[in-house]
Amino acid sequence: MSGETSMSGEISMSGEISFSAQVDRNFDKAAALTDLDPLLMQQIKSCNCVYKVDFPLKRDDGSIQVIQAWRAEHSQHKLPTKGGIRYAPTVDEDEVVALSALMTYKCAVVDVPFGGAKGGIRINPWSYSPDELQRLTRRFTVELMRKNFIGPGTDVPAPDFGTGAREMSWIADTYMTMSSGELDALACVTGKPVAQGGIRGRTEATGLGVFFGIAEACSFEEDMTALGLATGIEGKRVVIQGLGNVGYHAAKFLTEAGAVLVGLAEYEGAIHNSQGLDLEAVMEHRRTTKSILDFPGAKNLKRSVDVLEVDCDILVPAALENQITGENSRRIKAKIIAEAANGPVTSEASEDLDERGVFVIPDNYLNAGGVVVSYFEWLKNISHVRFGRLGRRFEQQAYERLLRSIENATDHSFTPKEFADLARGADEAALVRSGLEDTMVTAYHAIREIRQRHQGKADLRTAAFICAIEKIALCYQELGIFP
Ligand code: NAD
Repeated sequence: MSGETSMSGEISMSGEISFSAQVDRNFDKAAALTDLDPLLMQQIKSCNCVYKVDFPLKRDDGSIQVIQAWRAEHSQHKLPTKGGIRYAPTVDEDEVVALSALMTYKCAVVDVPFGGAKGGIRINPWSYSPDELQRLTRRFTVELMRKNFIGPGTDVPAPDFGTGAREMSWIADTYMTMSSGELDALACVTGKPVAQGGIRGRTEATGLGVFFGIAEACSFEEDMTALGLATGIEGKRVVIQGLGNVGYHAAKFLTEAGAVLVGLAEYEGAIHNSQGLDLEAVMEHRRTTKSILDFPGAKNLKRSVDVLEVDCDILVPAALENQITGENSRRIKAKIIAEAANGPVTSEASEDLDERGVFVIPDNYLNAGGVVVSYFEWLKNISHVRFGRLGRRFEQQAYERLLRSIENATDHSFTPKEFADLARGADEAALVRSGLEDTMVTAYHAIREIRQRHQGKADLRTAAFICAIEKIALCYQELGIFP
């Protein structure tokens, strides 16, 4: 066992409740509101299998380092299992197990037919050269293959904290090299570059899903009035912690919809400007100075974590877990917390925020955009055809005929631009975006409806857990194993 957490107990050596125990606690709270069999609950909650592997890495300077890595497959009620691979110094068995459980529930909430999994390598990726990262990624892939912990029909990784399309392309290349002739080999991993079987829209998918989820939550007048807010995104003051893949894209789509960024944090520090920060200018400032600090017109905050306490309407933690805890939750001023990261609010903080009427949009729903579009990528890979390839031109010609009939039947004639816009057939990017929006909106309505049904007893997180538990329970019940 490594790290500060203990798989056997609920409490870590630092005295905090462990991440997996927090996920289980949230599960138990929801399970208590169902009348499902306790043994079935136990089956759903427990992690089916964990693979721990150590392997040597020869560093560029010739020294050898032993690398620790994990892959957890939480539930095989649907196959393949699915979940990202994270590179971070915090990775340990407890974290990987907790994140794999969240994947199971998340997939169920958004009706993605996968079980949950998660992997991680315990390194700080920013301290390794691209060559070293390539060597250890390929080696980890081989180790996963040896134990059948990767494959298009068994377990399909994706990017997470510290990994991206580059790492996914190394995984795909290694898997394909080792499984020559396997027709569906490219479907062994998602989040690949488009030229290597990836799908348009995967890079921004999680951030875009976060945006769709927040926008949907903010569209309910009753809920916004209770928070003292108007409906819509326009003019809402937003704070983002973490400007990586998820945080940057969430910030981008929110500001494009009219939100005002008043606080931003990266690991080196945080900045605040109540009049608004220009996202692209901050990113450019960070590229040139290697830090978001000292951005013209903004105030530096003392510590990066202070950004969580900035006065705002929507706080978007998009870095890592355990950011809002029993220690700082009372000082949070945001009216809405949108969990873009996995597990940013501890269960202790959750209770406190709930009491104070802070509206939390939970991770097990909100950051599902990545796995939704990963599902589309996997479908594309196993069907061996790009979405829109068969129908786009046919659709376009049908729309053109319709528009010409309208022009012939009326005095109206469309400008060439109007004509082209209206007649455009759906391509891959448009289909992915609309499929993602539909999924996030439909799932939000489902969990909100469950919350309404359990008025006063279930917050949105508990409602999302109930939604997942009921769907997974049905899979086991239909097998006739559990009542
Ligand atoms: P990323 O590595 O692209 O970005 C994370 C960013 O957070 C980095 O820029 C890092 O410097 C910053 N950061 C680290 N510690 C910080 C701190 N203490 N304060 C402020 N910033 C800090 O990772 P990502 O893919 O954007 O993932 C972020 C979170 O979203 C993780 O919890 C991950 O599990 C979750 N998530 C990611 C995806 C996905 O598709 N990438 C999908 C679902 C959930």
